[in-house]
Formats: sequence, structure tokens, C-alpha cells
Amino acid sequence: MNDKPSILLVNPPIYDFAAFDFWLKPLGMLTAAGKIANATDFQLFDFLDRNHQFYSDKPQFKSDPWGRGRFFSTVIPKPDVLKKIPRYYRRFGLPAEIFIDFLKTNKPCDFVFVQTVMTYWYLGYQEVINELKKYWPRTKIVLGGPYTMICPEHARNLGADFIYGDEQTPATLTGSSTGAGAKQLPLWNLYKKIDTAAMKITQGCPFKCTYCTVPIFCDGFSTKPLQQAIDELRFLISLGVKNIAFYDDALLYKSDEVLKPLLHYVIENKIDVSFHTPNALNARFIDSELASLLIKAGFKSFYLGFESRSQEFQKQTGSKIYDDEFANAVKTLITAGADINSITAYLILGHPHYEIQEIEESMKFAGGSLGVKIMLAEFSPIPGTVDGKFCEKYIDLSEPLLHSKTAFPIILLGSEKINRIKDMCRKLNQFEN
Ligand code: SF4
Repeated sequence: MNDKPSILLVNPPIYDFAAFDFWLKPLGMLTAAGKIANATDFQLFDFLDRNHQFYSDKPQFKSDPWGRGRFFSTVIPKPDVLKKIPRYYRRFGLPAEIFIDFLKTNKPCDFVFVQTVMTYWYLGYQEVINELKKYWPRTKIVLGGPYTMICPEHARNLGADFIYGDEQTPATLTGSSTGAGAKQLPLWNLYKKIDTAAMKITQGCPFKCTYCTVPIFCDGFSTKPLQQAIDELRFLISLGVKNIAFYDDALLYKSDEVLKPLLHYVIENKIDVSFHTPNALNARFIDSELASLLIKAGFKSFYLGFESRSQEFQKQTGSKIYDDEFANAVKTLITAGADINSITAYLILGHPHYEIQEIEESMKFAGGSLGVKIMLAEFSPIPGTVDGKFCEKYIDLSEPLLHSKTAFPIILLGSEKINRIKDMCRKLNQFEN
């Protein structure tokens, strides 16, 4: 007789103005599940899985060579608090009917674990909880992830039975009564087909940028044991994964501890995978040895956090990088063999200290003088951060929908100005080097 508890893992749909599969994978949920895999039976329903058969006859959603692509979406009415934002509001991900059909045709699990990410995506979490309560009324629902950590009170009102990490969370869901070790691998094998995945080999960041949640939730910095990182990589390769995104917040910090040894392993074993860095790399740590290792190991895209060339802005927000350091890093990457078109500078758009950010000058510096691509990272005011507190004068932070990275810059600067800056970005990016 099988007396293991059964758990369904759900990665919900996204409700937002825009969403793109920029290597978006529920790594946190699969990692937590991996820790209790020996004692539990798992199933997975991922609304954001573009390998689902729903997409098989829809070539417009095909992945690019690096594993990114568009999600299926439908335009839906805007929530009242976002009515004035002049953009379409959408639901991204597999249609609700596919999930309902799954719930109707499968035996209810004991628990459902729902992954959350952005606070302002909670309508997707709500949709999943509502359907679960309707079709699997006796199943216990557990919400986990960044939204539940940033807005715990709001999360408690969505109707889940537990918030992951609560003292009342059943021990079977945290591994504390199962004897499960922390060395279990994330459960990527729950996907029927997988070609793109994510890894994280460090935890935390030594900086304390005023707009970032990492310093709030992660005390200090630590690295994963090398063998564990190698095991995870080997597991992904055995499943057929071709593109791997690193989700680390400070991947390049203390790179002698795990990153460099892992890169040497990849090179020596001729592992043929493309690596990507959607979470900004701190360019300050790129030296010629590291640049050369990254390129030889198969890093195909370099997303570097820049934000602004204004010294005053950098000093006020955490001093993570200055323009001369940024320029040196770009030069070092190119000298090591990186294609300049594979290097992208992230710049915050709609930061509340906009007046000292000199965004247009900063864009001209990165895109014009240095010649790298620019990606505008729209600012989201996050409760608990220094900058989030500063935004209380513009919005009601207790409503997570107003943390929207599309909405806040428009509320702060107006649609016209935002469109003008985005146009400038598009023009700078048009010039291929
Ligand atoms: S360097 Fe990056 S991860 Fe670290 S605190 Fe700053 S923004 Fe956050």
C-alpha cells in the first residue's frame, strides 16, 4: 500500500501588462520539492510550460535558439486600480480549461503547492486557488515563494491553507519529519519534455541596493558545494536540457569557491550547453580570467546590472557599480571573445530618484559609447525596501497590483515620458555592431 502523501506542484498563470518567457522556471518550488522527494508522490502542472502539447501546432510561440519565447495570452479587463494605465492587461499561460480538465480527470492530491513570484501577479495565484477549492475541495493548499514573503498578510487572504515556512505548515511539506536531506536534486524530471532550465549555485549578495529584496531576505552570502552543483548540471543534461539560466543574485562574487571550479569542470568535460544570466551580473567582478572561463564554458548572453552612470545615484542606492568599472568589464568580455551583441546593460526605468539617475545620458553611454545592448528594467516598488518606503507618497503599497513594473513608472513619470525613453532605447539598440 502506498501511504506517501501526494502533492501537486502548480506554477500559476501570469496576470500582467506584459510577460515573456525569459528563462522563467519554478526553480524554488522544484528545489523545495526535491528535498522531500523520497517521501512523497509528486505531479506537476506548469501554466508557463511552453513544451506543453497545447503549443505543438502554434509555431508563433516557438523558442528562439536560446530557449526563450512568447507565452499564449488573452486580453482581459484591467483591475480597477490599474484602469488609468494605457496598456492592455493580459492573462499569460495555458488556458484555464486545461487545468480544470486536469483536476477533473486526476485523483485529488493530499496537498497542492503553489509557486508565487511577483507580488503583482497575485490574480494568477488566486485563479489557481479558486479552481482547486472548486474541484479538489478537501486538498490542502500551500502557497510559497517571494510574494508570500514580501506580502504575507495579503497572501493569507487568498484562501490557501498554509503559507510555506509557517510554523503550522505540515512537516511532510518541509522535510522536517521525513529525514530528507538537503542534497536532493530539484525535480526537473516531472516535466515530460524539458530543454530549458535554471540553476542557482550561490545564495545572497554582499551589496545592499536600496531597490532590491535580496538583502532583506538573505542574510550574508554562501556557495553551494561544488559536487552538488555538478550533480544538478549532470541531471539537467541527462534530461536533454540545452539552455541553462543562472538565477543567482551575485553569481560572480567569490567565484573561486564554486563558479570557477564548475566552469573548469564544464570545459574539461566538453559539456555542450548554453548558459545565460537573466539576473544581472555584477560587472565589477569580471576580470580577464573569469571572462575567458565564462566564454569557453558556453555563456552565450551577458546581462550586466548598470542602472545609471550617475555617481550620485549609485552612491545613494548601494554603489554596486560605477561607469568606469562597467566600461572595463565590457572591454574585458570583448577581449576574451564575447560578441558585443551578446552583452546587455540593464538600466532601471521609473526609479523614484529619477532626477539624479540621468537615464538618457546613461543610455547614451552604454548603448552609444560602449555599444552594448540596453534593456530597461522597469522599477517595481517593493514593500520592505528603502525605495519602496519612499514610494508610499505615490501609491498605496498595501495593494500589490500597484507594485506593477509597468504601472509604477507611468504613475511616476507619465506615459509620454516613458514612451520617449523606450523609443530612445529602441533606436540605440537598432545599431548592430
Ligand atoms: S547587487 Fe544586485 S542582488 Fe545585490 S543587492 Fe544590489 S541589486 Fe540586489
